[in-house]
This record gives sequence, structure tokens and C-alpha cells, in this order.
Amino acid sequence: MIDIYADLGIRTLINAVGPATRLGGLPLSDEVVEAMRAAGNRSVRIDELQEAAGAQIAALIGAPAAYVTCGAAAALSLATAVCLAGERPAAVDALPTVTGARRRVVIQRAHRDPYDHAVTSVGAELVEIGYPGSTRPDELARELDDRAAMVLWRPGRGGDHLDIGEVSALARAAGVPVLVDAAMDVPPLSRLAALLDGGADLVAISGGKAFRGPHTAGILCGRSDLIAAVAPHHQDMDIRPRTWQRSEVTGADPVRGRHGIGRGMKVGREQIVGLLVAVRAFVRDSDAHHRHGRQELADLRALLDVDDRCVVRDAYEHHLDVPVIEIDLSPSGRRADEIVRELDRGSPRIHVGEDLAWRDVITINPMGLRPGDGAALARRLAELLDGGAGTGAADTTEVGR
Ligand SMILES: *Cc1c(COP(=O)(O)O)cnc(C)c1O
Repeated sequence: MIDIYADLGIRTLINAVGPATRLGGLPLSDEVVEAMRAAGNRSVRIDELQEAAGAQIAALIGAPAAYVTCGAAAALSLATAVCLAGERPAAVDALPTVTGARRRVVIQRAHRDPYDHAVTSVGAELVEIGYPGSTRPDELARELDDRAAMVLWRPGRGGDHLDIGEVSALARAAGVPVLVDAAMDVPPLSRLAALLDGGADLVAISGGKAFRGPHTAGILCGRSDLIAAVAPHHQDMDIRPRTWQRSEVTGADPVRGRHGIGRGMKVGREQIVGLLVAVRAFVRDSDAHHRHGRQELADLRALLDVDDRCVVRDAYEHHLDVPVIEIDLSPSGRRADEIVRELDRGSPRIHVGEDLAWRDVITINPMGLRPGDGAALARRLAELLDGGAGTGAADTTEVGR
């Protein structure tokens, strides 16, 4: 088999960041890769594949209905499109111009996130309520008027804010759906159950994070009537109405416009099938990947625990539900920014978590580590702390620098 990356002159890297899009996501299992290969080999009707795979995924994760997207960000966009325009062909065709009165998406200020772009890009106007430290129920209630199309809620934000139950109760009374951005927070599936029990109408989940599916896959799940309205916004319906037949899976034959706003977010059959197989694998043995990750972290610790130039601490990444390691570099007198740059330039090329780099701590997330990576990372770090730029850039091809 050819090594396509070597062929292109691109250096691969040890991914100690986790499921980061800028690094192409996590390595895929052989099982997922094989399913994607098999899926790519034949043509099918995508609407039928979506219906069949969506039903299976919904059953596996415990949601009323599900639809496969090209990521959680696309799931946020498609959910917003449904809340702004429903299934009405004229309204679907008009987005991002909103034809109905309801075009506002209400969000607690503390829940803002760069991914809000996925919501505003389809035509919604964001309305912030509350303050960074607290939000009150009446601040939500007074925005739930006939201009409100949706409430967006995010898990795991610190502060005295409205929980999913409080938000859903107020929103339901006003007839406004609640979308949860659980991209990083599901799995575990118990969290999805809690969100749905708490009254969430729609939940966006990343397929390439904890599920370890293809990195350009995601799930929008929740209320069946809302999920049924996703396809008209998403699928390529450049068909001939005289000959286009009902789906053989569900018999569905929705009245559709041509291309909705989601057409640029198309998802391939390889992604749909790859994600389905990844979700099956997760449900079969949800701890399998963690076992391997824990081993890599243990190997790394064994080498660095004896090094007095850094302090190694166990920590936990609560969103992704995974143990991580923090390496405090302050005893070495080296700045984390410098070490991060050298790890990238050197060989093996290594990327680490930088959330705490401002206080000279680097983070090791095991999700993207391959066998042997933990020890390789520890050895390279020790080498850098010895003061050398080490075996770095000199012995490897540099591309585009
Ligand atoms: C990662 C993430 C997303 C986007 O997920 P993709 O599957 O990469 O599209 C959206 N929201 C939050 C909070 C995320 O962390």
C-alpha cells in the first residue's frame, strides 16, 4: 500500500490533542475504514441510506429519530434551518432569508461559542440573555415571544445558569424548540438520555469525537417530526418530479424544493456507513478505546514521573469523558509556547493540548494516540528539556515553511 502522505511530502504527527479538526481528527479503526471502503464501492439512493442508517443510529443511541450530518456544526445549521423554515418549500428555498416571523435564536450569554456561526449563517439572529456569571428564568421568558424560533443550549458551562429542564419547560410553554449543542459531550449515552429526559427537542453530536467515527460525520437527533424536516434542507433534490419515486425504505415522498441551504454540507455514503459502524462499535464496548488510551498515558508517566524538570498530574476532560495528563513545565524554566513549537518542528512531529499553555502546562489527551505514541512523546519531551532542539527539523523534509 502506498503511503499517500509521504508521497505528498507531508509529515504525519503524533496527535496528543484529541479529536481536533485542524489535525484531521482521530485515527480510524480498521473496522470503520473497512466499512467506508465497502460503502464507497457502490451507489445507493442517499435519502434511503439516510432513513435506514438514521433509524438504526437512533435505536443504538436511544433517541426517537436521527439524521447523519457532516459534523455537529452542520447539525446545528440544519436544526436551525428546520426551526426557521420547517418543511415549507418556499421557506426552505428562501433561506438564509427568513420568510416567517420567527427568526431569533435565544441563547444564554455564558453559552456563546465560536460554533454559533453555524446558527447565524443560515439566517437566524442570535439574542443573548443573562450575564457571564448568571442567568434568570424571567430573562429567558420575556424573549420567548412570536419572534423566537429556537433556544440554543450548551452543556457544561460554569456559573449560575438555566439548566436544560428549566429552559425546556419555559420554551415548551411558548412552543419554541430547544437545540442542544452536545458535540463534545455525547457519548456517554447517559448524557444524551438526560438531555432528552430534560426536554431537549434536538441534540447535535459530533461523529468524529467520542464516537470515533469519520471526522466529517455527525448526528442530529431528537423529535421525529423535526428530524423528518431535515432532508428537504439538506439533500440534493435536483430530480425530475415525473420519475422520482417514493423511498423504498419508508415510503416517504415529501414535497421538496430543489437545494436547501444545507446542500453545501452534504454527507457521503462512506461517512454515513462509517459512522453507523463506529456507533455500533461504541455501543458494543464503550470502554475499548479508553483501555488503550490509559495504557499510553501510563507508558508516558513511567518515563516522565522520574524527571524532576516537569510535574506530571492526572486530570480529566469532562466534556469528552476521558482521563488526560497535565505536564507542568515550570520547574524546567522553559516556556510552554516554546516547547509546543519545538514539538511541532521536531521528529517525531508532535501536537499537544495547549489550553493551559498560558501557565506553562501542556495537556496530553490519549484519544488520538497510537500504540507506542505515549513513550515516544515522553522521550522527545525529555530530549527537549535537555536543552537541544534534538533530532528535530534537520533530518526531515520541511513542507511549506
Ligand atoms: C467540536 C464542536 C462542534 C463541531 O463539531 P464537528 O463535528 O467538528 O462539526 C460544535 N460545537 C462544539 C461545542 C464543539 O466542541
